[in-house]
Amino acid sequence: MPAALKIRPRMRMLLSPAVTKIEMVGFVAWIGVLLIDPMATLNLPNILVTLFLLLVWHVHRIVADFWMWRILGGVYIFLLSLGFAHVIAHNMELRVFTLPLAVIIVLSSAILFVTVQDYFLSAGLVWVLMWPTLDVSLYRELEVYLAFFCIASMSIGSTLSFTYLRNMRSVLIVESEFRALAETDFLTSILNRRAFMETFKSVMAGGHGGYFIMLDIDSFKQKNDQYGHDVGDRILCAMAACLKSTAGSHSVGRIGGEEFGVLLLGGDDAVVHEYALRLLADIRCSVLPPHQYTCSAGIAQFSATSDISAVLKCADTNMYKAKNDGKDRVFQNGKRVTPLFPATT
Ligand code: GH3
Ligand code: MG
Ligand code: MG
Repeated sequence: MPAALKIRPRMRMLLSPAVTKIEMVGFVAWIGVLLIDPMATLNLPNILVTLFLLLVWHVHRIVADFWMWRILGGVYIFLLSLGFAHVIAHNMELRVFTLPLAVIIVLSSAILFVTVQDYFLSAGLVWVLMWPTLDVSLYRELEVYLAFFCIASMSIGSTLSFTYLRNMRSVLIVESEFRALAETDFLTSILNRRAFMETFKSVMAGGHGGYFIMLDIDSFKQKNDQYGHDVGDRILCAMAACLKSTAGSHSVGRIGGEEFGVLLLGGDDAVVHEYALRLLADIRCSVLPPHQYTCSAGIAQFSATSDISAVLKCADTNMYKAKNDGKDRVFQNGKRVTPLFPATT
């Protein structure tokens, strides 16, 4: 996913508090205007605008979908401008305020949009709605200044929006690059131990259960000693590639020197057994002779309420049972896992 798309949820998270507050200020100002002269302003269209403003403000705060959130920002500004334009259109003496009001709305919404195009569209809409309520006779022979205010407010607003968004974007991109680095194992490019454990915790916090498999490369020290550390490193990378390419897992990570972890969500014993045996078979032929290697695996089942260290210990115990039984095998509940349908020769 492009970095600019990846940071959008974060941008939204950072902008949302300001958006909520500024929309509330706009709403209070709207109510204030209605209450100054309720006899003149409390009519059906204004009551409808009030209700819709409140509804849009509320939904805008809680809506999960990013596109809906983006659209609602524009809808709010549209409703507010429409409301003010309606009040001014029916109250001649208020026409003197159209110009400052439009400039205030256009400038104050400059940092509320997630793209400059959204801002520009919204600012243009404000002017389109407010312009007909301008008392042009007030500015006779000075109309050019009206155009000047319109263009200047949109230019200043767009510059503010552009600069603010560009700075926020570059800070967030650096932040997401650092986060990726902090979560990735340097050698194998899969999750490191900390990130894998965080994933494990968030899976459980999300109410999910499943299986944790601990894998350890067999006689790895011997491979290092026999062929050198660089071959050992290549074996570790091949193992990580196998973990990534073997379908069925939720997440995989390097949790120690030559130890790896796999999370499978849901499923049953048969599913996890088939996965683990398939994985060990892939691992066996992931590197050409004479550097081929094997690994041993221990399985532990977990639920959303399991104690994570007990789950790790259980998988570790099973993994060592697999080692003691002769390596290159899978154990669960102290017993060797064998294929449901052994291959016929
Ligand atoms: P067992 O089958 O019982 O697991 O034996 P083993 O030799 O795999 O286990 P042991 O714990 O004796 O050795 C693990 C070795 O893994 C020792 C260490 O040098 C090696 N190792 C750990 N991290 C790395 C690494 O990043 N690169 C390389 N090449 N080797 C590593
Ligand atoms: Mg080990
Ligand atoms: Mg080992």
